[in-house]
Amino acid sequence: MVVKNQEYIKQQNRREVLEMIIRNGPISKSIIAKKMNMSPTSSTRIVNYLLDSKLVVEDISNGPNKGKRNLLLPNKKRIVNICIEIDIDTVTIALINLKGEIISEARVFAATMDASKVVQVISHEVKLMTEKQLDGDEMVTGIGIAMPGIINPSTGTVKVSTQFNWKDVPLADMIREATDYDVKVDNELKLKALAENHYSIRKESSLVMVGFGNGVGSALITNDDIYRGSSNASGEIGHITLDPMGPRCTCGKYGCLQTYIAKDFLLSDARKSHDIESMEELIEKAQLNEQWAISILDKAVSYMILTLNNIVRIYNPSAIYVSGILIENHRYIHEKLENGYHEVDAFRNGDLKIELTQLKDEGALMGASLMIQRHYIEHLA
Ligand SMILES: [Zn+2]
Repeated sequence: MVVKNQEYIKQQNRREVLEMIIRNGPISKSIIAKKMNMSPTSSTRIVNYLLDSKLVVEDISNGPNKGKRNLLLPNKKRIVNICIEIDIDTVTIALINLKGEIISEARVFAATMDASKVVQVISHEVKLMTEKQLDGDEMVTGIGIAMPGIINPSTGTVKVSTQFNWKDVPLADMIREATDYDVKVDNELKLKALAENHYSIRKESSLVMVGFGNGVGSALITNDDIYRGSSNASGEIGHITLDPMGPRCTCGKYGCLQTYIAKDFLLSDARKSHDIESMEELIEKAQLNEQWAISILDKAVSYMILTLNNIVRIYNPSAIYVSGILIENHRYIHEKLENGYHEVDAFRNGDLKIELTQLKDEGALMGASLMIQRHYIEHLA
């Protein structure tokens, strides 16, 4: 047990030193030791390891620093993460370097959501993109995948994804077999939260990402990592029961939180009285001052505010980031939500920051990149 812990600490320290160089480089060994609260011997050992593994390089852009140690930089050309976001009808694939910069990105429409067809699309696109973009000097860490649903992150099995109608799909195994790359899979909101926390300048002590879209979900980041709960189901707030006599939810229960907020429920509410095709159309009607449309959206926003208040009660985070198609794609709803932030006590008292996700569309891909990169670094010999 002691040996295992030491090994774990060693891997954690390596990753943290590397991430510090990525974030703050060019940086010196002594500053790293100070910031990491490490002895100079430990920091030198880790830095030498990272130099040997070619994960970092010495900064000789102004010529080698004679007699003095050179500053350290991430070797951003060396490491490439293949990142994939699976969404309804679309698969987005990107190559992302060690600094989190997108080298190449493509969006493919998949006509079907049949799991084996999706795997075919992915393996074909991965082959195309890596052949075209990489020259062979790079180290590919593997494939990181973000998608909605309850996922076992250690096996990469999709336990349930109601949106795709998938149950117990061994996605990581299937893609590993088709591509020969190492594969990690996780829930897209959890990965978005991970990336938002990692790339934000101001570090939060605890951060919650909440998503309002086809469903309602949340993800908590604490100590720079995802909080999962005992079986990785933490954050599934969309299925908190608000009213046992309420509308039937996709999960089979009644009156779940998401039945008052999620897109399809708002549309079916609208269709009880009007012929409405899309969310865009519903918002258009509200903007034309049609009272029935305004009240459907106002009601949804008041449940969103209630969700934020409940999140504060459960997690007491220092920041909440709001995301999801209802907010990110519809300025009208986002503005209404912003106007209601003052109804959240902690926000009004100045104890909580509430902001729109900064990484927007790219959040899930950036999180997938971070996941596969960390996995690679933590498993280096
Ligand atoms: Zn439900």
